Amino acid sequence: MIPANRAPAQPVRWQTLWRDAITDPHELLRLLDLSAHAATLLPDADTGFALRVPRGFAARMRHGDPADPLLLQVLPQAAELGEVPGFTRDAVGDLDARAASGVLHKYQGRALLIATGSCAVHCRYCFRRHFPYAEETAAANRWERALAHLRADASIREVILSGGDPLSLSTPKLAELTDALATIPHIRRLRIHTRLPVVLPERVDAEFFDWLAALPLQRVVVLHANHPGEIDDSVASACAVLRDAGATLLNQAVLLRQVNDNAEVLCALSERLFEAGVLPYYLHQLDRVTGAAHFEVEDARALALLERLRERLPGYLVPRLVREVAGAPCKRPLADNDGNA
Ligand SMILES: *Cc1c(COP(=O)(O)O)cnc(C)c1O
Ligand code: SF4
Repeated sequence: MIPANRAPAQPVRWQTLWRDAITDPHELLRLLDLSAHAATLLPDADTGFALRVPRGFAARMRHGDPADPLLLQVLPQAAELGEVPGFTRDAVGDLDARAASGVLHKYQGRALLIATGSCAVHCRYCFRRHFPYAEETAAANRWERALAHLRADASIREVILSGGDPLSLSTPKLAELTDALATIPHIRRLRIHTRLPVVLPERVDAEFFDWLAALPLQRVVVLHANHPGEIDDSVASACAVLRDAGATLLNQAVLLRQVNDNAEVLCALSERLFEAGVLPYYLHQLDRVTGAAHFEVEDARALALLERLRERLPGYLVPRLVREVAGAPCKRPLADNDGNA
């Protein structure tokens, strides 16, 4: 059970909050007193990737500020529509790496399961915005094929649940999967990559705590927060529950122009994460996916920012600056590519 002092008095079911997310850009702008900016901010054609943001996350945005760093992460913009050379639909080579339906086995010892295509929030820079989820999710009644792959390869020590956001699956559905994983002796660790504790912390409810705490595997939860303003007290509480359930908490962020591409913001993000019991893990260079070019930060600037972080933060609060390179055996540190950091 969640310790009594952390259980909300009248919990609202997370599924209800999920369904109640904002999906109309005009409604979001109205709530933020930005309706007057609609004509300049919103694209005049369909971007093919709808707005979606939970109300609790939108409540952390500043009113009257069209450049709010949380808003920029979710608001469809005209800049997404142009084709930019070098930006493609499958920027990280996922379609080549598929080993069985729903399994991406690119790196030694770790297999990534695309548990679902759903997310509570739609991040505009997301490299999976063009992913053919309908065919590729393991949960579409195809745990069996994914599990067969995991069972057959004894080099796999760690299963990573990704997506989409794996915590968009119900806890009983997750339990179905982990019950099966528990029968595979070579699998020691379960890692969950999720943005839900940040954008919809109510997801970390009593039922979820019970499931996570009882897992017979070591557990790692890799959160995804890009800006310190995303981490309010409700997020910190959710993190505390995850830690009480025995999870090691890490964070990955994406370096995003106008959102977090300055040293003060990145330092504050690391400090705020640590206050919530989370260590910074990766700072990703953007995947060069169609529609996200306006978020890109040049490598030279990214490396300079990292240097500022090293000067200001203890080493354990400096994230690893990496890029995903199609076909590479691991995420590539930027410093290695350029040899000048
Ligand atoms: C990022 C990723 C991993 C995890 O890599 P780590 O460096 O261990 O965090 C595993 N599999 C795939 C397919 C990935 O994209
Ligand atoms: S939550 Fe993660 S997978 Fe979902 S849209 Fe955002 S970045 Fe992409």
